[in-house]
Amino acid sequence: MRINALTLYGFRNYEEARVEFSPGINLILGENAQGKTNLLEAIVYLSAGRSFRTRKEQELIRFGADFAELQAEVENRERENILRALLFAGRRPRQLYLNGVKKKTMGDMEGALHTVLFCPEDLLVLKTGSSARRRFLDQALCQLRPNYDRALAEYGKLLEQKSRILKEYPENPGYLEVLPDYTERMCQVGALLISYRARFLRGLGEEAQACHRDFTGGRESLSVEYKTVSTVKDPFAPIEELTQALRDHARSHYRAELDSFQCLSGPHKDDFDVSLQDLSLKSYGSQGQIRTAAISLKLAQRELMRREFDEEPVLLLDDVLSELDPRRQDFLLNRIQRGQVLITCCETDRLTRAGKTIQIENGRIL
Ligand code: ATP
Ligand code: MG
Repeated sequence: MRINALTLYGFRNYEEARVEFSPGINLILGENAQGKTNLLEAIVYLSAGRSFRTRKEQELIRFGADFAELQAEVENRERENILRALLFAGRRPRQLYLNGVKKKTMGDMEGALHTVLFCPEDLLVLKTGSSARRRFLDQALCQLRPNYDRALAEYGKLLEQKSRILKEYPENPGYLEVLPDYTERMCQVGALLISYRARFLRGLGEEAQACHRDFTGGRESLSVEYKTVSTVKDPFAPIEELTQALRDHARSHYRAELDSFQCLSGPHKDDFDVSLQDLSLKSYGSQGQIRTAAISLKLAQRELMRREFDEEPVLLLDDVLSELDPRRQDFLLNRIQRGQVLITCCETDRLTRAGKTIQIENGRIL
């Protein structure tokens, strides 16, 4: 899969721009704050239906503009597709088009553009708090499984509503009447999330292990372990069993939730742990080990997507190379020979040997 061209109007700091990409490696060069990450953000938006930097679409629209328009010409094995998104200032909902036909949801654009984004925060994902790992997990799974995307969106809404009830019931005791309904639905949807996550992490772990073995010459063995709600003994169990386990957990935490005014039960606190030789990286890993393992995870994510869709996703590297030492740079670059890659960076020196160069200055393509 590859992006042949991207056209932007009124997106971030781009007034009007068109970029053409080559099928292999593309280097996006420019000084700080010129629009390199904005370009990748536009591509991710067309692929995932959301930005990785903000939840507020307004921020994506150029200051002073009424709307933003993003369009990508994408080629996959079978055909060329034109993906288009229109974002409006104010309350008017966005519009999505595939080959000129209006689509209701991102799910209806399914398959037209697959991307994997790798940015410096991902290098620390194994060190920081669990929310970064959940984000990694959710972003990867949403692209892989549209049904997961839907379930996650529903769970998010339920969690928000239940949290509001728990916060405000002292003033509005009547709220408590609907609490069991929310809890029950959260158990049902939560069970789905757990099932998807368990399977995804198992595949990711296997791939990452293979990748890590190559990188360390077989010296280190990497493993990934899923951590979810304590009453779930087997996350691969049938959905009905998972739902029951979540109900048990919710029941035993009912009092605690009322006392703490917070939603304590459910997979919204899920996490995963990555170990080398059975030692948790989070607790014992060196900086270098944490980075190498993070690269392995990202490459594994790309491999899972390639296998699922039988096509190489477009790889987006935002400022990652400059964060890596030469040995890790080489490993990464060698591993990504196949498929289209868009790399943003500030310096030219080490990388000029590779691919097409695109120079950006103040929201303009030079
Ligand atoms: P760095 O090398 O520092 O990562 P970059 O080239 O990746 O820089 P971007 O993040 O792509 O930079 O662009 C940042 C610029 O875009 C900032 O100067 C910011 O003010 C501008 N910008 C962001 N949102 C908007 C907007 N809605 N309208 C106009 N300009 C915006
Ligand atoms: Mg940037």
